[in-house]
Amino acid sequence: MTQDVSTPLMQQWREIKARHQDKILFYRMGDFYEVFYDDALLASKLLNITLTSRGDGVPMAGVPVRAATEYLRQLIACGQRVAICEQVEDPKLAKGLVRREVIETITPGALLDDGYLEGKRNNFLVALALPAGAAGGRGEGTGPRGLAAIDLSTGEFLLEALADRSIEDALLALGAAEVVLPVDVELRLPDGVLETRRERWEFDAELAREEIARRFRVASLDGFGIGSTEAPALGAAGALLRYLGELQPAGLPHLARPVVRRSEGRLHVDEMTRRNLELVEPLRAGTRNATLLEAIDCTVTPMGARLLRQWLLAPLADPAEINRRLDAVEVAARDTLGRGRIREALEGVRDLERLGGRAAAGRATPRELGALRDSFQRLPDVLEGLRSLAGRERSTALGALLEELDPLGDLAAELARGLVDRPPVALADGGVIRPGYDGELDELRQLRDGGKQYLAALQERERERTGIPSLKVGFNKVFGYYLEVTHTHKSRVPPEYERRQTLASGERYVTPELKAYEEKILGAEERIAAREGELFAALRARVGAAIERIQRTARALARLDVWTALADGAVRHRYVRPVVDHGFELALKGSRHPVIERLMPRESFIPNDVEFSPAARVLLVTGPNMAGKSTILRQIGLCVVLAQMGAFVPAEAARIGVVDRLFTRVGASDNLAQGQSTFMVEMSETGAILHNATARSLVLLDEIGRGTSTYDGVAIAWAVTEHLHDRVGCKTMFATHYHELTQLPERLQHARNLTVAVRDTGDTVVFLHRLQPGAADRSYGIHVAQLAGLPARVIARAEEVLATLEGDHRVVPGRPPTRDPGQLALFAERGEPPAPDPMVEELRALDVNALTPLEALNRLAELQRRAAASRERG
Ligand code: ADP
Ligand code: MG
Repeated sequence: MTQDVSTPLMQQWREIKARHQDKILFYRMGDFYEVFYDDALLASKLLNITLTSRGDGVPMAGVPVRAATEYLRQLIACGQRVAICEQVEDPKLAKGLVRREVIETITPGALLDDGYLEGKRNNFLVALALPAGAAGGRGEGTGPRGLAAIDLSTGEFLLEALADRSIEDALLALGAAEVVLPVDVELRLPDGVLETRRERWEFDAELAREEIARRFRVASLDGFGIGSTEAPALGAAGALLRYLGELQPAGLPHLARPVVRRSEGRLHVDEMTRRNLELVEPLRAGTRNATLLEAIDCTVTPMGARLLRQWLLAPLADPAEINRRLDAVEVAARDTLGRGRIREALEGVRDLERLGGRAAAGRATPRELGALRDSFQRLPDVLEGLRSLAGRERSTALGALLEELDPLGDLAAELARGLVDRPPVALADGGVIRPGYDGELDELRQLRDGGKQYLAALQERERERTGIPSLKVGFNKVFGYYLEVTHTHKSRVPPEYERRQTLASGERYVTPELKAYEEKILGAEERIAAREGELFAALRARVGAAIERIQRTARALARLDVWTALADGAVRHRYVRPVVDHGFELALKGSRHPVIERLMPRESFIPNDVEFSPAARVLLVTGPNMAGKSTILRQIGLCVVLAQMGAFVPAEAARIGVVDRLFTRVGASDNLAQGQSTFMVEMSETGAILHNATARSLVLLDEIGRGTSTYDGVAIAWAVTEHLHDRVGCKTMFATHYHELTQLPERLQHARNLTVAVRDTGDTVVFLHRLQPGAADRSYGIHVAQLAGLPARVIARAEEVLATLEGDHRVVPGRPPTRDPGQLALFAERGEPPAPDPMVEELRALDVNALTPLEALNRLAELQRRAAASRERG
């Protein structure tokens, strides 16, 4: 084992590996990438490939270069980084060992290849500039913080001063795949996010400013709208660019200018709300058609799908901006013909953003360039449709697209001239360039094809001359072209035939004439390949040079796709344009749940009206289980998200005063993996709401307090509602099956009771799913149990027990249970007889009108004395 390990090859491997210790090294050897030592152990385990060993006992595994993409995809999905080490000189020309270099490193955050990427979502690599030390459980440290994010595949580049946004929220909203952090920060990243540490100095804002100015060839960053609050974000961008530079030593693909994202002007939706409302991910992993995104995603291009997702995760809070988007949707919704035309044209448009990026990076394959050409060719149709839709108005959002949408006719024409209709995946397969595009190539091809014809003619001629009917011209790699004659006819072979090979079936010969043609033909093949390579590279470079135009157009198309998609969905599913303004009101008429209604037969979802106003801003919804409380609650949240992202809403009419923050705490969620009990999670989430809600927020609470005993639960729910009503003053909906809470509106001026109607037919309950004023009189839990098929005996017994319990438990009307806890118990202890207090009885019996003032005073003194005495006894 010892000798071979120090072969020159392994020495070269060691030197390279030393510079790439935290990565799996894919070491190119001929048609394989080989991995050695620990890399081999890891890769064989993750990829389920055979672990072998070299003769010297070095553990080793390999994957064929042809199939490398799939293996790389799997490794990346496991959160690995892979350094790709290629042979950088032709092995045939190399003296001694072939030179090898790492040409790129692939990590979960730095992906360019379509093979690894999901079309409908971005793949962001994020850097966080945070002060040294612990960043706190939710990532709130002290000192300025900033975030930079780059999607290498689309060229998007974002900066954000984190302000009061939690790090976890920011990362999850971006769907960060990998995060770059200073070494001295303590922070726990969300699961599945790869962590990369860099030195603190790399996050320096001044260094970054210079680097970015150089990269975008500007004298200063003034024009980028980067303010002093974004300094940490800028520093993060510097670290990010340096890291990416190391991963892609040949240079980064084209990046768009950094866009500064500000949290003002946006609807803040925290992670819990995003999850609970199932905006983009279902609560139960793997469930289909459970998310709002799925319900509204009618986009036809990958750029559109990505933008829709971005908008859904970052709705706006500025009515002017929202209405600009709504205007565009409305125009598209009205013009069925124009919309249809645009959507038809868009359907043929592929991922311009990513394909363009690949062309600019010199990586696009012939087939990808073909896809770009086909996409460019759709643009005139798109543009024409847009012109008729947008009219002459340039100030509208649709009109602005007219300016940005470049039909890229020059590129389309060039690619159409240059490429064959269906280019192959690999350049090496040949037949990429269209005949007639290049004179030299045409000549070479003629030579080759002419040569082939010549050989066919030669075969015919030789058959006649020799009288051997089975004589044929063949080709193999070792001997080139030959004439094959079966043994039967051996005697007729002319003397000038030179024997080259003897087979069981016959003999193979060559002639000088044949060899001369062979040279011409083979030479032609090689030169054809070289010429095609040149021409293809030139076409690709031409497209790559137009990357800014392509990506600007791609982004305009993304918006057009989203607007027409939203319009299409709105028409198909009967959504309306909401009135969005600065007011406080939130009024939905005939509203539906966009996801649930889709799962039911058409028209069977019961629409409901809801209205929040300054006078009635806390709505308590009671009703039996399964009545539809949670549904209406989420429905409101989803309508607000839709409206504020600039989409129509599932309702007959809607008025939505913009909301600054949306909080939704729905049902019980388990977070046992983090060692917290369900109730603890529920309470800390509720705490976060109470701390962060403002009068402009919308708080949707579903069954808060359920994770503990009934008394605790009611008490907490009561106090939470009071706080939101008295202190925060926000719009609140509280769905609960604790009908004890229906007493709240008696003392909270701006609170109202609502209930979801049921028809009680005596022995069964019919859910009407209709929201109406008033309180549920009881919780109907037993009826639900009955509907669910519990045995009749059990149901009967439960009715009995319920009757006893209800007799025992009384809330004292009008008394908030958490106030004055020492005076009156909220509920009598179980089992204690509900005996009326004698003093209360006495007071009740008193006829005040029949008493003289003096008598009254005496009775009062007497009552007070007895009350004092009873206090001492108790
Ligand atoms: P609750 O929270 O009151 O227990 P849910 O909101 O979970 O009830 O609703 C239970 C089921 O009732 C839903 O899954 C849905 O099938 C149905 N449902 C709710 N609201 C409606 C409605 N407006 N129209 C038709 N069906 C509804
Ligand atoms: Mg519910």
